[in-house]
This record gives sequence, structure tokens and C-alpha cells, in this order.
Amino acid sequence: MAAPSSSSLEYAFHQQQGGSTLAALPKSWHFTSSLPADPLFPSPADSHKTPRDEIRPRQVRGALFTWVRPETQKDPELLAVSPAAMRDLGLALSEAETEDFKQMAVGNRIYGWDLESLSGPGYPWAQCYGGFQFGDWAGQLGDGRAISLFESTNPATGVRYEVQLKGAGMTPYSRFADGKAVLRSSIREFVVSEYLNAIGIPTTRALALSLLPHSRVRRETMEPGAIVVRFAQSWLRFGNFDLLRARGDRALIRQLATYVAEDVFGGWDKLRGRLDDAEKSSQSPNSQPKVRRSVPKDAIEGPEGAEENRFARLYREIVRRNALTVAKWQAYGFMNGVLNTDNTSILGLSIDFGPFAFMDNFDPAYTPNHDDHFLRYSYRNQPTIIWWNLVRLAEALGELLGAAGACDDPSFVANGLKDEAAAAPLIARAERLIDQAGEEYKAVFLAEYKRLMTARLGLLTFRDSDFDSLFSTLLDTLEALSLDFNLFFRRLSGLKLSAIATDADREAAAAQFFYSDDATHNDSAGRQRLASWLDAWRSRVVADWGTLETWGESASGGSGAVSPSREEERIAAMKAVNPNFVPRGWILDEIIRRVEKEGERDVLKRVMHLGLHPFEDSWAGREFENGEVYEGDREEEVRWTSDVPRMGRAMQCSCSS
Ligand code: AMP
Ligand code: MG
Repeated sequence: MAAPSSSSLEYAFHQQQGGSTLAALPKSWHFTSSLPADPLFPSPADSHKTPRDEIRPRQVRGALFTWVRPETQKDPELLAVSPAAMRDLGLALSEAETEDFKQMAVGNRIYGWDLESLSGPGYPWAQCYGGFQFGDWAGQLGDGRAISLFESTNPATGVRYEVQLKGAGMTPYSRFADGKAVLRSSIREFVVSEYLNAIGIPTTRALALSLLPHSRVRRETMEPGAIVVRFAQSWLRFGNFDLLRARGDRALIRQLATYVAEDVFGGWDKLRGRLDDAEKSSQSPNSQPKVRRSVPKDAIEGPEGAEENRFARLYREIVRRNALTVAKWQAYGFMNGVLNTDNTSILGLSIDFGPFAFMDNFDPAYTPNHDDHFLRYSYRNQPTIIWWNLVRLAEALGELLGAAGACDDPSFVANGLKDEAAAAPLIARAERLIDQAGEEYKAVFLAEYKRLMTARLGLLTFRDSDFDSLFSTLLDTLEALSLDFNLFFRRLSGLKLSAIATDADREAAAAQFFYSDDATHNDSAGRQRLASWLDAWRSRVVADWGTLETWGESASGGSGAVSPSREEERIAAMKAVNPNFVPRGWILDEIIRRVEKEGERDVLKRVMHLGLHPFEDSWAGREFENGEVYEGDREEEVRWTSDVPRMGRAMQCSCSS
């Protein structure tokens, strides 16, 4: 384990100044010191002595990564940083103005490595992984243009992140491509990573965005090159396991699974076992899902005396995390667009942003990926696809899962199963565990989806009848009337119950939810359909908020009204979960054009500000957390939070990024 590079005193000093310098930030290289390196470059020195352009694409076996330094970049321009990311890493905001930061952000600084003595605790690296792309095994993929620099632990929070550059040059994993990233997709990744984090969806993060003025990158046209500094608690994907499984590398699968449990999840003891009955009955129906214990007692085998060994607990943790994340995507209408197993995170993070999108007019069959002809990665398929990916992961871990208590048996560890006869019960057990994990996936997904939809609709409790009478009916109505998914929730948040008290009121109120240029759906039948949903919603709001009257004002007992103070509270609660700003494709396209073609820079700061504070009613001229007045641009923010222009709805992107 590498020692932090700064003394705690030095760090404490920087903390008082509002964060650390880049140089003083504690850095480590746990990943590379725990897992095997590419045998062609066993040490950083072997890689460093090799000319950069001789580290070429090839098959790398028996390894999780290759030591490889970023390409050197001339005259980089730091376009933007995320203040939230600076804070979460433990960096002082002022650090972004230093030369050191600017050079780090494009890979012109190597950390953990002394250039004189050619030694040190670490060096940059690229990961080796494979993946199933669009359902087919694609072989070795790997970090083809991403290079990790170091891990750093924020001592104030204790959270360790791996800091990585995307677009930093070729690696052994670049295959036929160039190792570069274009400005267009870098802007998209930079904005969406920080936005997802701001609305509470697990995601990899983005620290900084730089333009490479001398880099022209060939895609469909020639485009400017860029680098995003991104970070995550782990960049491991299902694809890391897939590749080891395809190559039959049993020992490395065990080693990697152990690394994930001990290092990424913080220890085997942090991984929950199956809930026992006492725990189950103490849970409130609106909190965690119940987990069924469907294993009969006589199925419990092995020296550990348990059907479920530690690898099964690890798998279930990965299942749960991914179930939570995909539930959040569904509740917020986010689509990744390329949910291949190499883009599915072991931590359940949203990761690798290509043709992602947020839903505009609600359409469950929408896919933001222009090349996704079979709608594999469409909105409605995401939960199924993440489970499909989880089953591939289970197959990689299958032998470890199925071995139960015999997983540490020395002969099993060394050679696997002795014969076919021994395989049958192991396979049966693994299948049972996967089935149970599938049930758990559904339960966790549903509980989280219900929790979020309940909150988005401003309700305080979930009733079983809500699923059909409110959630499903709403989605059907949004689809039939071509209503905007996210604008709907925001506009609903601000709606006063007094404005929807009668049929006539409701029909009038319904008009505001249609696109203003949509005369087709916004007719009397359309408005009445929405009005009848508003009526059902209104009753549920009254039931939840009216009967809970505690303010000494007239208690309404669910019969009609909600007191003004309770109504204000309900509106505030809804606005706190229903973002006003959503980085849609058309907004990102506008920003890309303005930065790329018109030389604008401040627009990036403004979109980042809205993205980091997405729940506000307005931004320009208001004070935010640092006590300064945010100047902003009122006209622009109103435009960005209004109807999506007709030509900008349900846009699609190609994968070329
Ligand atoms: P993605 O679809 O962006 O997740 O990428 C799939 C695989 O292709 C990953 O292994 C990437 O590292 C690799 N890749 C994508 N674009 C490039 C590029 N321009 N240069 C090198 N590798 C790339
Ligand atoms: Mg990827």
C-alpha cells in the first residue's frame, strides 16, 4: 500500500483553506498493487522505457491492466471544472487555476513516479476487460482511450476515488481506434456525469474538461479533440469478469472477486447475508424490499454450513446496487443507450456516456442510440438488459457461487471440480442462487422505483393501488398525449390543489402540460383524459397531506383540502425531487455548437451551475452556497427549462464519440 504523499498537518492546513492542493492530495495505487500487470511491461519502468508509440494494441492475457502513460499534449485549454467534483475529491476550488492542475487535466503530469530515478509507488495504467456488445461476445476491449492516473482519498470523507483521463491516447486496448475523444462527446459526458450525481443517481464523476487545440480527430467529420478528467470509486465493469471467464482464467476471477469485495466494497463483512425473519418483520413496508428465503434447509451444504458463501453475498451486493440504479434511471427517464456488459459497473454506477438521453415526450420504446435497430437499449428494456448483464456476471462467478462452503477447498481452488459427477450439484446450486438473486433484483428494483415515483408525485405513502391507478395510468397518459416526462413532474409540483378542484378547473389546468405547439393532442378529449388522472392524483394528495394535519389549522381529514402551509410543504418537497433543469440532447447540442463553432466558454460554466443545482426555480441573480451572487443568463435558463423545441425532441446519436 502506498503512503499518502502529504503529511496530515499539511493536509489540515489546506483543508482550512477550503481544500487541498493537487500536490498534497493523498494518492495511492491499490488497484495496480493488488492485481497483475500486463506481462509485457511487468513494472512501470518497463513501460516508461518503451517509446510511447510502441505500446500498441494487442491481446493482453493474465492481467487486469497495462502500465501506460498518457500522450503529451501541447497548449491545452482548460475549458471548465465541476466545483462539486473539486469539493468531493477534497481539492480547493482555487487549485483549478494553477498550472499544475491544467497540466494534470490532460496527462502532462505523471504521479507516483520519479522521472530521475525511474521509480516510485505508482504510474498511470489502462484496464483490461472484454464485453458482450448488443448481446454478442466481443472479445477483449479494455480502456482504449482512458488512462488512470492515481487513486486519491478525500481525508475529510474517507472516500477513495480513481482519477482517470478519457481521450489521453492509445493503449494496448485501443483495437483499431485512435485513443482520442472528441469535444462533442466530452462535453456531453462532463455535463451528464455531474448532473446525474446532483439528482442522486449513482454515476462516475467528471472533474474537468480540456480542449486540445492541436488535435483534430476523424469521426464522420474532423472534430476537435478533448480530454475529460473523470473519477469513480471503481472503474471495474462486468466486462472485466467476462474476459477472464472467456479465457478460462479461474485464478484471476477469484482474485478479482476478492479484490472487489475487500477493496472496493470495503471487506467481506460489509456484504449483507440473506435477511433473517426477525429482520424482515421489523421492516416497514415502505422501506427496504423483503427478501425471500426460498432455500430449503436440506439444501444447505458444505463445510461453512451455508448454501450462500461469501462470493454469493458479493454477487448479491452487485445485483442490488445495479437494481437500485436502473430503478432510478427509469424513474427519471434516463437512458444510457449502450448497456453492453463493458458499460455496466460493478458498483452500479452510470458509466461510459455515449448516446445517452433523458426522455422528452414519453415513449417507452425510445432508444437514444441511432444504431440500436432492435431497441435493445430502449427505455423499457433497461431493467431486463441489466439483469441479462448480471446473469453473464453470474456465469463468470458461477463456479465460486455454486461451490458453497467448498469454495476454499485446496483441491477445488487449484483444479476446480474433480469430475462431471461433482459438477451437477454445483451447477444446480449456482442456478438456485441466481434465481434467488433474480427475485431480489426485482424486489429491490420495484421498491426503489415505487419509492421514487411516490416522491415524484408528492405522496407521503405508497399504497398498492397506486401502482395501477396512478403510476401506470400516468405513463399511459403521457405516452398517448405525447407529454414531456420530466416537465410533467416539475409542472405538477407547482400545481395548487385549489386549481384542480372541479372538472372544469382540471381540464383548464391540463392544458399547461402539453407542448405549446401541439394542437393534435391538446384537444378536449386529451385534456379530459389528463384531467381525470389529475382528479385521482388530487385525492391521493389530500389523503396523504390532509389527514396528517399537525399545524393547528383546520384539519381536513382527507375530505377536501390541504392547508396552505401543508400545500407549500408538499410543493417544496416535490420540487426537491423533480428537477427543473434536465440536460437534454438539444441543450447539449446548442452548448457544443457555441463552444466549438462560436468560441464561447462561459456557457459551460452556466450549464454546470444549472446541472449542479437542478431543482431551483431560477438561477440568475441569486445567491448560492458560496455566498456570491450567480450572474447567469435569465433568457437562456428560461429557454433551457421550457418546452423542448419540436426538432430537438427524442433525438438520437450514433456511437461514434
Ligand atoms: P464505448 O462504446 O465507448 O464504451 O467503447 C467500447 C470500447 O471501444 C472500449 O474498449 C473503448 O475503450 C473502445 N474505444 C471507443 N472509442 C475509442 C477510441 N476512439 N480509441 C480507442 N478505443 C476506443
Ligand atoms: Mg465503454
